[in-house]
Amino acid sequence: MAISKLSSQCECAPSVTFDLHCHLRGTLQPAHAISLARRNGVPPPVSSDTSQYGFSTFEEFLAVYDRVGHVIRSPSDLRDVTLSYLKSVSGTGTVYVEFMISPGHSITNGIDFSSQISAIADAIEEAEAETGIQSSIIITCVRHRGPEEALEIAELAAASGCKHIRGFGLTGNERLFDAAQFRAAFLVAQSAGFGLTAHAGEWLPAETVLHTIKSLNLSRVGHGISVAHNMSVLAEIVSLNTGFEICLSSNFALKAARECDQHPARLLINAGCRVAFATDDPAYFQTIPSREIDLAISRLNLTIEEQWRVVNDSIDMAFCDESVKRKLRLAAQVSDTNIALQPMIRG
Ligand SMILES: [Zn+2]
Repeated sequence: MAISKLSSQCECAPSVTFDLHCHLRGTLQPAHAISLARRNGVPPPVSSDTSQYGFSTFEEFLAVYDRVGHVIRSPSDLRDVTLSYLKSVSGTGTVYVEFMISPGHSITNGIDFSSQISAIADAIEEAEAETGIQSSIIITCVRHRGPEEALEIAELAAASGCKHIRGFGLTGNERLFDAAQFRAAFLVAQSAGFGLTAHAGEWLPAETVLHTIKSLNLSRVGHGISVAHNMSVLAEIVSLNTGFEICLSSNFALKAARECDQHPARLLINAGCRVAFATDDPAYFQTIPSREIDLAISRLNLTIEEQWRVVNDSIDMAFCDESVKRKLRLAAQVSDTNIALQPMIRG
């Protein structure tokens, strides 16, 4: 497994990173998007001299994101996009990635569900064989596409039998549809043994995070940062032991958190929440997992003990099975010593 020391670390700091919140379409770099557009005979989504996607509001980000995503037209495109990200981050110390896949988008583009999954699974296996990196798939339904499609997607995922599908999630516009309307889809996913997560509290208040967690029986929440503004909700979520997927670059770029203020993740960590740092859409926010940890160290003043706690929480929160977690602990060199730190740190 390829491991490199993170840039700003001392010898006793963790040397590996994880990416538990990464949208596959969000890994597509501009140059790769242009080459896929050429290959598929569709208009390029950005000009050929674009080195990074441009947007200044969340709405503009969504518009660019949709335009770029349309260049993915075949199973081999999905395979290439998956492989490209895994190979690039495996060389920077990342040992585990969970990709969020929204099958509805690619079905619209003419790629059926099973072709999507087998293409991505091929890439996951090839990357593991070449680099040792481990990865899993989280099938996501898209909130603004409604509960009916969500249920169909959950049933497809449950019936697929793909060993790499380990989770089920909810993405999309938080302001549309009550989370409880997706309960039927999440019950199907839960029965299939998938780990459950959903985007919440990126834009809406803390109460909506608690409502989403309870409605869908989540073990993790994507973002969830508004919880830091409501101490009674935060206390209840700590008691539920919900994990938080924190995406610093994304929050700063989309202005879900102000760069001049302390990021809410500091309060979540202080309160004893389980936290993992992740990229969200790395090609859009010019980030990789090791950069997110570097940011956490510089912006949140993460101590060495807290960095080890994040490693342990990331493995603990991951949706993969225990045999993969053992490999991750080995790769992270999680020792009895740093595990023993945990109660002391949390206390
Ligand atoms: Zn996300």
